[in-house]
This record gives sequence, C-alpha cells and structure tokens, in this order.
Amino acid sequence: MKVDLHTHTDRSDGTLSPTGLLEYLRDQGVEVASITDHDTLAAYDDRLDMQGLTLIPGVEFSANVGTMGVHIVGLGVEPNGAAMRTASERQQSARARRADAIALALEKVAGTGLRTAASELAGGRVPGRPHFAQALVAQGLVKNSQQAFKRYLGKGKRGHVATDWPDMQTVNGWIRDAGGVSVLAHPARYRLNRNKLLRLVREFCEAGGEAIEVISGKQDPATTRQLAEIAESHKLLASKGSDFHSPTQTWLKPGRLPPLPSMCVPVWEHLPLS
Ligand code: AMP
Ligand code: MN
Ligand code: MN
Ligand code: MN
Repeated sequence: MKVDLHTHTDRSDGTLSPTGLLEYLRDQGVEVASITDHDTLAAYDDRLDMQGLTLIPGVEFSANVGTMGVHIVGLGVEPNGAAMRTASERQQSARARRADAIALALEKVAGTGLRTAASELAGGRVPGRPHFAQALVAQGLVKNSQQAFKRYLGKGKRGHVATDWPDMQTVNGWIRDAGGVSVLAHPARYRLNRNKLLRLVREFCEAGGEAIEVISGKQDPATTRQLAEIAESHKLLASKGSDFHSPTQTWLKPGRLPPLPSMCVPVWEHLPLS
C-alpha cells in the first residue's frame, strides 16, 4: 500500500491547495495520506473527499526540548474538536509573535517592509520562515531560500529568534485529547549524534509519544535501518512521509517512498481508515 503521512499545503508553507495536493497525491498513486500543515488544521476546513485516496486528519506541531526545536506530527486527530482548536490558536499566536520578532531582527538588513512581504507570500496567513526566506529572495538579498536560511534564518543567524513553543508533553497531550497518535517527525533532521538522538527518543516516549517517522523524505538506507531499530527497541509505531511541500521538489516523489523495514509496526494499522 502506498502511504504518505506527512505533507503540506498552502495553508502553511506548501504551494498546493488542499484539494490540489490530494489530486497530486492520487496521481502519484498514493492510497493513504495525511495533510500535516505546520501548527494548523485549516486544510480540514475544506471539503476533502477524493475517490481512491484515504485521508487521515493530521498536523505537524512545533515543540521545544530545552532550547532545541522539534516537530511532532499528530495523526488521526479530530480536526474540529476543542483540543485541536486550543492547540492551533496557541501555536498561531506564538507564530505571529515570532514573525514580528523575525521582521524586527532583520530590519537593519531588509528594511521595514519584510513582515508585510512575508505575509503576502503566506496568502494573508501568519508567515513562517519559508515565507521570510522567499521575501528575502524577492528583495534580491539572497539568491534562493536555501541561502536565506543559511545567512539569515537558520540557527545562530540574526533572524533566528527564540520561540516559546510548548514542551513535548503538552503537544502529545493535545494530540491524545484529539484522539490521535503522536509521531516524532524526521528524527534524522535534528543532526544529533546517536546518544543525543536516543535521549530525545526516550524523552519523547516519557512525554507520551507513541510513534516515530522511520522514513522521512529522501533518506539514506542506513538511516532508515537505524530508525527502524530505534522504533523497535522503544516499542514505537513506525510512520513514513515525504514531507512534501511542492511539485518543484523534483527529487522527492510522494508515491515513491520505500516500504518500511519488516520489523516495523506501521502506525496506519492503528488508525481508523475510513
Ligand atoms: P517554521 O515552521 O516557520 O519554523 O519553518 C520550518 C520550515 O522551513 C520547514 O518545515 C521547512 O519547510 C523549511 N526549512 C527549514 N530549514 C530549511 C532550509 N535550510 N532551507 C529551506 N527550507 C527550510
Ligand atoms: Mn515546512
Ligand atoms: Mn518538520
Ligand atoms: Mn513537515
């Protein structure tokens, strides 16, 4: 079965509308999918029924572990219930405060119009860092988003501001209250050594986490094997997702994710697929 449980729409930093994304996924042969926008379930306000594609309601929350930012995907959540409403309101106000702080921190470099430019690129929603990156590209300050992160928005740079994301226990609690399963997103992307990664996974379990992404986007097979072993030893369910943002990411096709290693227990076997 072709499964992709981590994708983005233009309700956060993706480029396709929710329906456009589902059409794209279906055309790629994906049979089970989740839209997991950053800190919002706005995609689920749309009417989303697509023949031949089972949609699992989801979200990707930002959290802090000490000073490190991590992402936690919630799968199978009730998108319109009180828990997700509280959570997305709280996260969106943190995002709005952060956007103001980023604009202020970059004012000397980019001038006073950056916040407005980023908001426009976000379609009037609260801009995330990729929208600031695009705005910096549009101003000609950098040649692409990659460079914008490297010079201005990434860790240690002028536009990288501290954000008061909730801890993992809070996020996992929201997901549990919404009837979902919490999944540690893209564990290999935090660039931790083995000991630190194991510590993060342990803390995630202690905070009520139930699954990890064993396959995330384009990932080398050794990493997949290591994450499968970590999932098994910590009795975590296994998820997989492309972290798709746009069809321009030609190196990454949602329909072509490899299967999970056989030792994994797929998270979708524990989710209602209606
Ligand atoms: P935010 O949630 O607003 O902090 O933005 C995080 C998003 O920025 C990630 O989900 C990616 O889509 C994007 N991103 C993070 N790091 C980079 C990078 N180095 N280059 C390009 N995009 C990035
Ligand atoms: Mn993103
Ligand atoms: Mn993420
Ligand atoms: Mn993502």
